[in-house]
Amino acid sequence: KVFVVGSVVVACSVKVTRLPLAGESLSGSTFLAEPGGKGFNLALAVSRLGVGVDGIFSVGEDLFSSVISSTFAQLGFSSEMLVRREGSTGAGVAFVDPAGENCLAVCLGANLALTADDIRSFAPRLLRSNLVAATFETPDAPIDEAFALARARGITTLLNPSPFRPIAPSILANTSILVVNAVEAAALGISIPGLSMPGVSDEALQPTPAIDRLLADGVDLLIVTLGHRGAVAFRSHGPPLHQPAFEVAAVDTVGAGDAFAAGLIAGLLAGKPLNEALRSAAACGALTTLQFGAFKSFPTELSLTAFVGQ
Ligand code: ADP
Repeated sequence: KVFVVGSVVVACSVKVTRLPLAGESLSGSTFLAEPGGKGFNLALAVSRLGVGVDGIFSVGEDLFSSVISSTFAQLGFSSEMLVRREGSTGAGVAFVDPAGENCLAVCLGANLALTADDIRSFAPRLLRSNLVAATFETPDAPIDEAFALARARGITTLLNPSPFRPIAPSILANTSILVVNAVEAAALGISIPGLSMPGVSDEALQPTPAIDRLLADGVDLLIVTLGHRGAVAFRSHGPPLHQPAFEVAAVDTVGAGDAFAAGLIAGLLAGKPLNEALRSAAACGALTTLQFGAFKSFPTELSLTAFVGQ
């Protein structure tokens, strides 16, 4: 079972013929409101792969909190995964033009009210999981508490520091698996030689000082995802690995990173060796790019098996 520490938002999008100008009022062709948020996406993607999910997600006291509650019920997620806070449920609004170009703003609202005390009250459930995952749509304090509790019991932790902010040393010290995309890697000072080239060269697999530092700071496994160039894994024990991306006709890469992390988690919890878990992860990332949005596009256990042919 995976325990996810937040976040959840209602993602609203309006399809428009062109992006609006300041002060302008446009009519859109389609309106869509879907549950999303990095933590929720990870929970959803993991559950589609047949892995049990628990977690703590904070919603507000508004109309959108019932959208989240009913989605959780439909997905078979326990209502006990939700805590209520004053104020608004996390929500985002996006305008999307026919070319897929967009502008958006997200208000994390109640997600920012999650505290270390909340985690302590969920401790018995958290400690029944095999892996604890968090993203940076949650404040440091609850992540810190959750990871410290987990690691003290030998439970694996996974951090996707997105949207990026510097990682607190205490969180890093308790992070088993750190998954970053190219943007977050750059923010951490990780440069991978060959990054700008079409393929990832062998030199890319030489850990740089920034990578060595992360591994020395407590991270067991650092994975840098590079979109259509695949992913590179650096380990505290063992040589680096490169997992190429599967070649697909991608239409929308939203959610690819979440799906990759979910595939990795499902693979590792199923006891696969790292190279096989990375292959599942890359397949999940690739499959997610075949459809628009994230909510509907995460692969199931069945579609993953059909795709990788196992
Ligand atoms: P994020 O969505 O967090 O920015 P990436 O874009 O690096 O993350 O994608 C995560 C993983 O998903 C990649 O390592 C790759 O395996 C897969 N992926 C992403 N984009 C593509 C693509 N265009 N074709 C095939 N696989 C892709």
